[in-house]
Amino acid sequence: MPTESTFILASIFIILAATGWALGYFGERDDQPPLNIDYLKGLNFLLNEQTDKAVEHFLKMVRVDNTTIETHFALGNLFRKRGEVNRAIRIHQNIIARPDISCEQRDQAFYSLAKDYHHAGLLDRAEVLFRRLSVDSLFQTQSLYSLTEIYEIEGEWKKCINCSEKLAKVTRKSFDLQISHYLCELAEIAVTNGDVKKSLEFIGSAKKLKTMTRRTDLVKAKCEKLRKRYTNAIKIYRDIIQNSAYLITEALPELVDLHEQLISLDELNEFINKIRQSNQKLSRDIGYTVIINNIYDVSSLNDCVNSYIENDSTLKEFLGISHDKKDKLKIETISLDRIRLSLSKLARSTSRYQCESCGFSSQKLLWLCPSCKQWETQRPFSNVQFDSILQRMPLISD
Ligand SMILES: [Zn+2]
Repeated sequence: MPTESTFILASIFIILAATGWALGYFGERDDQPPLNIDYLKGLNFLLNEQTDKAVEHFLKMVRVDNTTIETHFALGNLFRKRGEVNRAIRIHQNIIARPDISCEQRDQAFYSLAKDYHHAGLLDRAEVLFRRLSVDSLFQTQSLYSLTEIYEIEGEWKKCINCSEKLAKVTRKSFDLQISHYLCELAEIAVTNGDVKKSLEFIGSAKKLKTMTRRTDLVKAKCEKLRKRYTNAIKIYRDIIQNSAYLITEALPELVDLHEQLISLDELNEFINKIRQSNQKLSRDIGYTVIINNIYDVSSLNDCVNSYIENDSTLKEFLGISHDKKDKLKIETISLDRIRLSLSKLARSTSRYQCESCGFSSQKLLWLCPSCKQWETQRPFSNVQFDSILQRMPLISD
């Protein structure tokens, strides 16, 4: 079966002949055979599905110069987009090897080659080229973006900050949110290495930015906990729960843990009961978070779980509980603990977070979306994803 590449190359060979341009082009060169033989040779390779030979033939047949260079670039980029990176690399290297192209064309070829390497996962080679282009070239901005992406993959957070600061200057846009995440990454590494002081220094730098992530507070609370400044940590976690509910899955288990350690669950109950009375949506989110994290034996949190179960209409359908208020107590005939345990299992078998930008979902919170490469776009689901469970269930036939 001929591949799409075969058609692409065949089209180029045919266009070269059909336009008559190529005839004139080769006609001026005494050292070349006539085009009809040349392009027939190329087509022959294609018909025999020898795409690599056809590419080599194309490179020998069509010299890189001002009239043909765009065809070379187009072909190289087409191959990369199709995932045939080795062929793209071959074409772009061939352009670079020509001594008679302009500086701009050479930069374009280096940029295309860097993209090929990036695409192929050859990050070291891509980095070298993007770094060269990130200084005073036509591809400075794109190269800085690509470099940042590479450094994010490699976890080179200081280099990410450096690139983002350069990008802010070049594009006159704010990169503060990204930079605050890079600082949080560094702060978390410092905490893991037991260097709380260093971690707090990174958080301090993040707080100086005009825009920053609330993740800084999560890291700060962790530091305060490690420094045994429990009251400060509790205050931060409470603030996150009340004002940044999308981080509840990160903050609530930590808050419960602190109160358990300090044997001050009464204080926690008082805080949660106030939320239950004033904010039903947040109360339900707390209930769901408690289910997923298997938090038990805290009366106010148990109440949130019960109210979550009672108010989830899809769940009630599943359990066969009537919507009629008179039957409300029917739910009590079913063991809430059993429901809770089953829900916990179901929730843990489905995605818990979803990117608001591209829809990518995952079990763990990912600050950087691996799909759309944006920071802090994931939000937790606030209920069990019954749809995705049903989709995974085999169809039962009679
Ligand atoms: Zn995304």
